[in-house]
Amino acid sequence: MPHDSFDFTAFESEVTGRIVRGMGTGGDAQKIAAVMAGVVAFVEAALEGELDGAERTLMACGPGCATCCVVNVTVLFPEAVAIAAYLRTAMDAEEREELAAAIEGTAGMVRWMDDAERIRRHIPCPFLDRSGRCRIHPVRPLTCRAVTSTNPGACRRALDAVAGGDDEGEPLLMNLFQKFLLETAFRGVAKGLARRGLDDRGGELTQSMAELLRG
Ligand code: SF4
Repeated sequence: MPHDSFDFTAFESEVTGRIVRGMGTGGDAQKIAAVMAGVVAFVEAALEGELDGAERTLMACGPGCATCCVVNVTVLFPEAVAIAAYLRTAMDAEEREELAAAIEGTAGMVRWMDDAERIRRHIPCPFLDRSGRCRIHPVRPLTCRAVTSTNPGACRRALDAVAGGDDEGEPLLMNLFQKFLLETAFRGVAKGLARRGLDDRGGELTQSMAELLRG
């Protein structure tokens, strides 16, 4: 089986170590963003080394497909800090203000909402631009990077099924190696935060960002 020899335990330990070494007991936003960028680069390098051309060809996910960007996304606080730091460099003040208002609005709507209800009401991620591209693609959450569908049509049908009350829906084919790798990375970051005595709880993306941009 492909990837059978990949050492997920060592991978998770390395992610945890990067957070423990990099975060100290906290640090400023730039430092936290740099630590997260290092973790993401490490994850991307692992994917680069493991995924072959055939697997990549099968993956339909990529910039411009926003089909699944209507579910709640969980982030850890260094991820939210990295996104905020990116917004400061990638957008002008007016654009940031507009986005912050959209994030506040979405956060207010989706508070206490589970995925099924959010899908039913079709409340998209505020980070999508008008053409359906993710405006924070270089710093998008680990959870978003874990999604690797092979067929956007199947994603739409699965979401429609959930919206219609069928929680099982149509099974989705995805690259389980990438999914598990990203989930392992998320766990590794959380463990590193816990070791440093920092907040290791995941928060819903818009709630976390609204809180951070307000503060
Ligand atoms: S952060 Fe980007 S990829 Fe993730 S749900 Fe939002 S728009 Fe989609």
